[in-house]
Amino acid sequence: MHLAVYRSSLARAVVHTHSPAVIAHSTVFDELPAIHYAIAALGGPVRVAPYIRFGGDALAQLAVQALEGRSAAILQNHGAITYGNSLTDAYERAQLLEWLADLYARAVALGTPRLLSPSDLADVTAEVRRRHYSSLTPVTEN
Ligand SMILES: [Zn+2]
Repeated sequence: MHLAVYRSSLARAVVHTHSPAVIAHSTVFDELPAIHYAIAALGGPVRVAPYIRFGGDALAQLAVQALEGRSAAILQNHGAITYGNSLTDAYERAQLLEWLADLYARAVALGTPRLLSPSDLADVTAEVRRRHYSSLTPVTEN
């Protein structure tokens, strides 16, 4: 799976986790929606790839598809995969993804979350670029 991500992207580091909020999210939802602007650093709402057993090319291909235009994806009933320009970058994205999944679980417990639109996220990306906030820079910009 890691090799497939390296081959299909500009990744210089790939991180895979079995982080609990992400796994819990993957058992219920097909996507992690944009409820906080920091998700712009992952390229937008994060897809959940359908479940398939670990260890084969099929999982690698599903992960690559879920990563299209994103630097993070969720693997249903399994975990997370993120990538970046460095191991620190990929790891920080994995931490951000876990935080966003936890945040979403809290929001859903309270009611129906209000979502940020694609134009809200584009506005965030433009402001991040203007301020040179590298930690929020989408991977396609790195
Ligand atoms: Zn795994």
